[in-house]
Amino acid sequence: MLDRKEQLKDIGDGESKLDPLSACSRCAACQSACPSWSATQLETRSPRGRVQLIRAFNDHRLADSKELREALFTCLDCRACETACPNDIHPGQLSLLKRAEIMPDGLPRRIRRMLTNAPLLHAGMMEFGMGAMRLLYQQTGLRHWLRSSGLLHSMPKLERLDRYLPEIPGKPARASLPEIVPATGVKKGVVGYFLGCAMNVLFPDAALSAVRVLSLLGYDVLTPRGIVCCGAPQMTMGEIDSAKEMARRNIRAFDEVDIIVTDCAACGAEMKGYEHLLNVDQALRFSAKVRDFAEFVEPFIGDMEILPGCYTWHAPCHLAHAQGVCDPPKRILKKIAGEFLELTEEDRCCGSAGIYWLTNPQIADNALERKLRFIRETNADTIVTSNPGCVLQLLAGKSEGDEWNVKYLSEVLEVAMQGRMENCDSSRETNLLLSNNKRGVIR
Ligand code: SF4
Ligand code: SF4
Repeated sequence: MLDRKEQLKDIGDGESKLDPLSACSRCAACQSACPSWSATQLETRSPRGRVQLIRAFNDHRLADSKELREALFTCLDCRACETACPNDIHPGQLSLLKRAEIMPDGLPRRIRRMLTNAPLLHAGMMEFGMGAMRLLYQQTGLRHWLRSSGLLHSMPKLERLDRYLPEIPGKPARASLPEIVPATGVKKGVVGYFLGCAMNVLFPDAALSAVRVLSLLGYDVLTPRGIVCCGAPQMTMGEIDSAKEMARRNIRAFDEVDIIVTDCAACGAEMKGYEHLLNVDQALRFSAKVRDFAEFVEPFIGDMEILPGCYTWHAPCHLAHAQGVCDPPKRILKKIAGEFLELTEEDRCCGSAGIYWLTNPQIADNALERKLRFIRETNADTIVTSNPGCVLQLLAGKSEGDEWNVKYLSEVLEVAMQGRMENCDSSRETNLLLSNNKRGVIR
């Protein structure tokens, strides 16, 4: 009789009677695409291995165990296996769902759920937390002192957190963003803008760029005050009920619009998945309205200023694999970049995956090193992407010799549109409105 560890190594023989995963032919087409397998070379860290573990668990051939949970929780949910699989198996999503099922609902889990739900459901709470962090950690000089004293080296987790924490901006996007920003020039229609949590508190300039671009293209932009987190962090933690509650609130918040644009790839993927999460008509209608920023704006982009410099595109997993949006961002960049350079393995995971860089540092670092190697090979001076996690991960990996910077697509596109904006009186009004937040505000 094999012990539990041995069972996990050898799971996979025998036909499953109970679940549809028997469609997995064990061909291993998914294996080399998987960052956790590439880093460990372990079958239990591969998509195929995870599928077989889930089958065995469903068939009662395998009990819940620490090893099973580790196999499922080391999946980055990058979805590259789903693109690679010829049999339409979804090992990443299956791993997420199974996490929720096997985790015991004890007191520690309930406390964690309570603590994480509160800031995700109340943007003001998250803004307050980040403001306090800015004040206490950055502005008091504590960060500078910890870094220069060398003390951080003796606290690896804190050192890692510090490396990933960007300079926290003074104001979240919500403080400058009216609920309705009017179209610039001739109005084409109204779009909803989904302001994700990280875009709001960590990258407000990029969020405001996205809104200005949408306005400049002729859309009134509605950012409802009732929106909450998209639910992606809760799904990753196995908290499906919390993610469902967030989905319901966002569906209600965007009831009035026909199109919802987001500049965060992870939020976009999550919201396009509400139809499966809730499986009701309203969710189906909501998911059909969601568009990634590049996907929405690309058909409307006319002649642009050509930006000096060399640009490349890092495709977030949740854009390329989860949403299947691959070409629009590159078509935009090819139109506006002085030089566009292809990035080898552009759609391979950078290792960020929420807070995976903190919970599974070895695998995350392995994925990041591979990404950085190809970035350096391009000699590009600007890496363009559209996901906050990717931006944080790439900046955390940037070393002193690296001269490139990381930008959001919305930011570079706005700069390319500047010529048009500067010639347009109403666009100046829009900028004023965003910076002063004087009209249309519901707080
Ligand atoms: S999950 Fe798909 S790609 Fe991977 S082994 Fe199974 S059938 Fe092959
Ligand atoms: S989602 Fe990514 S990390 Fe998870 S099994 Fe698939 S390829 Fe591997």
